[in-house]
Amino acid sequence: MGLEENLPNGVLLTSVEKLVNWTRKSSLWPATFGLACCAIEMMTTGAPRYDLARFGMEVFRASPRQADLMIVAGRVSNKMAPVLRQIYDQMPEPRWVLAMGVCASSGGMFNNYAIVQGVDHVVPVDMYLPGCPPRPEMLIDAILKIHAKIMDEPLGEKRAAELKASGYRTPMV
Ligand code: SF4
Repeated sequence: MGLEENLPNGVLLTSVEKLVNWTRKSSLWPATFGLACCAIEMMTTGAPRYDLARFGMEVFRASPRQADLMIVAGRVSNKMAPVLRQIYDQMPEPRWVLAMGVCASSGGMFNNYAIVQGVDHVVPVDMYLPGCPPRPEMLIDAILKIHAKIMDEPLGEKRAAELKASGYRTPMV
């Protein structure tokens, strides 16, 4: 007979890794900033109709030091890129980045000298979300996929990936 059968009712067994990942994904706090039109949909996602609070995420933080999710909502201009990188650097580890919309993911229709052709040139991206703009349901779906990713992450792996990605440089204007 296994150990689990001998435990009293109401006692669950899990691993430290699963427990830590569960706490991380259950209280993911996004940084408060929006870059362009996609940010309107991001704000709507936090409002009562879509109720992001259901997933422990209603607390958009004005300070990056209190946030662990960066939602890049909109196109990133070359002038904004160093600021975005600075915000990312101020966020505590582990942290996750969601590129919201085609502009953040690849530059979208703004194929010109002023716009960064994908925010992954500036910060490591965990999830790309297509659309122009993606609707709130799509943003919630992407966030839930990040939750699933967090649950599967071996402890320490995120840190190792971030160290590897620390060579990212902001594009020069
Ligand atoms: Fe605006 Fe569309 Fe670009 Fe989003 S993807 S920032 S909605 S142009």
